[in-house]
Amino acid sequence: MNRRNFLKTSALGLAFVASPISMSALDSPTRTTTRSGRLNLSFEPYELKLRHSFNLARSQRTTTPGVQVQLEYDGIIGYGEASMPPYLGESVESVTKFLSSLDLAQFSDPFRIEDIHAYMDSIADANRAAKASVDIALHDLLGKIMGQPWYKIWGLNPDNTPNTSFTISYDADPAEMKAKIDETAPFKVVKVKMGVGHDKETVEALRQHSDVAICVDANQGWTDKNHALEMCNWLAERNCLFVEQPMPKEMIDETAWLRERSPLPLIADEFLQRLPDVARAAGAYDGINIKLMKSTGMHEAYQMATLARAMGMKVMLGCMTETSCAVTAAAQLSPMVDWADLDGNLLIANDRFDGIKIVDGKVTIPDRPGIGVELI
Ligand code: MG
Repeated sequence: MNRRNFLKTSALGLAFVASPISMSALDSPTRTTTRSGRLNLSFEPYELKLRHSFNLARSQRTTTPGVQVQLEYDGIIGYGEASMPPYLGESVESVTKFLSSLDLAQFSDPFRIEDIHAYMDSIADANRAAKASVDIALHDLLGKIMGQPWYKIWGLNPDNTPNTSFTISYDADPAEMKAKIDETAPFKVVKVKMGVGHDKETVEALRQHSDVAICVDANQGWTDKNHALEMCNWLAERNCLFVEQPMPKEMIDETAWLRERSPLPLIADEFLQRLPDVARAAGAYDGINIKLMKSTGMHEAYQMATLARAMGMKVMLGCMTETSCAVTAAAQLSPMVDWADLDGNLLIANDRFDGIKIVDGKVTIPDRPGIGVELI
């Protein structure tokens, strides 16, 4: 596909002169000499290459489509991105179409976060990853203007970040499976994908080599509530912390039935996207998995975490396969959550940012303003 076709800017205002970015512009320093006085959005597709193929309950893939975003204001550049796993319904085409439809140059004050989100929601429903890419870039920009990282702006203690889990998926080849298990050595929690027909084999293979705590993501793969309960009981005897999305998101009554009987907490993932879904999850689930690509970014993710905590629910922070840009943005929130699953950047071979670090299994937020990333 012709890259030039994607190199667009969303600003449509009469006073704005469209200036498509190039890769060299993407790689330019944070500050430029330009003083635009308005928000200038630019973006470009960026395919994420996975280090291992993803074997989920309902699909397999080796790449994830993405779009990298820049938001410039008075010479300061904020970075953002959209990651679009196919099952969520967004694509490079839908994201670039949405971003092209935005006129952010109308906002002379970049601190109007609420107004900018209301504007994006007024343009089109859904498009959550596209909206997240703007939100992340906006937060990066604002943090840089204020000279502070977002965990500080939110008043969070970076010492309270959780351990992150590292995801493995089943592989029928024992040598390949062993290689995947060896990669989990630095982590205190390992996430096991289930619902693909080798559920117990994956845990048993792991237990041959490690006693590490596990969490389980069934990715809606268990469709029989009695089987789901049997699995929860079996997992509870094997140092499992919680089960994420055990049953299809439509099976709310069955999930509530399971929750009454399961010894392990049940966490909503596919069931839940944005802020209004938090209250819907209460009763059927013990907690929620917040991801920036579902929540339309950091602004609503913070509201979701605050609401869930106030309702006595557990909060987990997850991600898609993303570069360190979006994963580090999510990490800014991590001091206020119970569990983190922020390994998306570690699963790709072509990260273009330096940011979040995992130190002794624990999420470590960079001491840099904004979302805390630098281009590699
Ligand atoms: Mg999940």
